[in-house]
Amino acid sequence: MIIKGGIVYDPANGIFGEEMDLCVDDGKIVEDAKGQEIDARGLLVMPGGVDAHSHIAGKKVNTGRIMSPNDSRLGAEPRRGICRPCSGYTVPNCFAMGYRYARMGYTTAFEAATPILEARHTHEELEEIPILDKGALTLFGNNWEVMECVKEKDLAKLAAYVAWGLRAARGYGIKLVNPGGGEAWGFGANVKGVHDPVPNFDVTPAQIIKSLAQVNEMLRLPHSIHLHFNNTGKPGNYTTAIETLDILKDIQPSRKRQVVHVAHMQFSSYGGTSWRDFESKAALIADYFNKNNHATMDVGQILFGAATTMTADAPLEYGNARLAHAKWSNHDIELEESSGVVPWVYFRKNLVNDVQWAAGLELALLTNDPWKVLMTTDHPNGSPFVNYPEVISLLMSKSKRAEELATQHEIAAKKSTLTSIERELDWGEIAIMTRAAPARILGLEGKGHLGPGADADISIYSLRPKEADASKDHQLVKKALMKALYTIKGGIVVAKDGEILAAPKGRTFWVDAAVPQADMDRLMVDLREKFEKYYSIRLSNYAVQDAYVTNPAVTKTSPFELETKAIKEAA
Ligand SMILES: [Zn+2]
Repeated sequence: MIIKGGIVYDPANGIFGEEMDLCVDDGKIVEDAKGQEIDARGLLVMPGGVDAHSHIAGKKVNTGRIMSPNDSRLGAEPRRGICRPCSGYTVPNCFAMGYRYARMGYTTAFEAATPILEARHTHEELEEIPILDKGALTLFGNNWEVMECVKEKDLAKLAAYVAWGLRAARGYGIKLVNPGGGEAWGFGANVKGVHDPVPNFDVTPAQIIKSLAQVNEMLRLPHSIHLHFNNTGKPGNYTTAIETLDILKDIQPSRKRQVVHVAHMQFSSYGGTSWRDFESKAALIADYFNKNNHATMDVGQILFGAATTMTADAPLEYGNARLAHAKWSNHDIELEESSGVVPWVYFRKNLVNDVQWAAGLELALLTNDPWKVLMTTDHPNGSPFVNYPEVISLLMSKSKRAEELATQHEIAAKKSTLTSIERELDWGEIAIMTRAAPARILGLEGKGHLGPGADADISIYSLRPKEADASKDHQLVKKALMKALYTIKGGIVVAKDGEILAAPKGRTFWVDAAVPQADMDRLMVDLREKFEKYYSIRLSNYAVQDAYVTNPAVTKTSPFELETKAIKEAA
């Protein structure tokens, strides 16, 4: 396949709006090819979109569906062509997840939180999502074995547990959600900050976070730790965010990437002491990211309208339910995590919601380096992912932001710095924040770029970047991004102008990390005892079997020690 004459944005290869041809063969980008020609003259061409933080599969997604039959009806699409029937708006069914991402030009999405015990369910749903390549991050921040290893300061055993847990969950990386707080919730409590001890475990969130970050680098995992802060969603929580990031400043990355990726930063950028004097501190957070290079973030933008909040931060969801008097589900996951789901609505005239809306945009616009900040809505917590084009058009147009602000609460503009921001992002920056940076932050080498050898994941939009003025024509930008003219996945045209033409099965990325056998042996003594005494499931039935991950893409890693030993032996 040859894609002719597109205006290509491929930031990872230093290409920003050059007219060029792209050649595809055998699912990869190549130097030369013959075959089908696609006329993309003058049109916007980017790598396929990569979503590094979304909630697309697993038990809390399914709980969200069950709790909102009204939501299922909202997104009903009958079976059509090769498309199976779809349902749901904030929590679509599995088929809709794949089709709707693909229609927008996205080809990869990662589920951001799965407890090991429930990973089988996550993979059952991932298997049913068509087209996309995907992966799932594994929750470790509230796990009894983790906290015991941290207390014993036994990082080697903790590394063995993480390696074992990733293998058992077929998981891609370490996710921490309100570390220590989720476990405390099982006993009706929470932690109030990073130095507040976890009840019954005699460790602090700071110790859990730092130890898992160290282990992440010992194991040389492709992604860094992926962190949802303590105190997420609370007034005044920006200080917790900065305090937590400071703890991780001196950790050396084992690969060329950040040492911590912060999830949905917007939900931790708040000032004030209560909802009454609530205000945005996103400008201070952006300033911190500008001055430090060890952290990256995704925004977690909110948009007005329906959402479904779902998180492993169980005490947060309990608070949400009390606040909104809404439907509510909380769930305790044995020796691992807890979680909650609360269907939600963000209101345009609600001052708190207006501040949240502005804070997300401030983060994306005030962080100078687009490689540090990903465009997300923490689907479906801030808004469903189908609304990404609305977020992008806001980032590219100051006049659109002004129009929106004019419809909000009369003092909303005073609670953030948004009105003073002139910056309008360009296509190069958007290509970084939605393609190149998420792939680099996740450590996915074949994704997010269009150099030879990359996966042939390409999106072409009905928009002429040399002619359209994204600042003035923001409606055109939004319309074009909602429906890619072509979405090409692994060299196959999967969507054309909103129609799904093919639904190939995607791959599931997971990481198989090697650790010294002696550490694994010590770990198994602990785990056998835990399964004997406490778990409702037997150790032999716990791990996800290969049958549940039918198209795996496995990254193997080994810690420094093993590599050095191998080098010595070879010498
Ligand atoms: Zn999330």
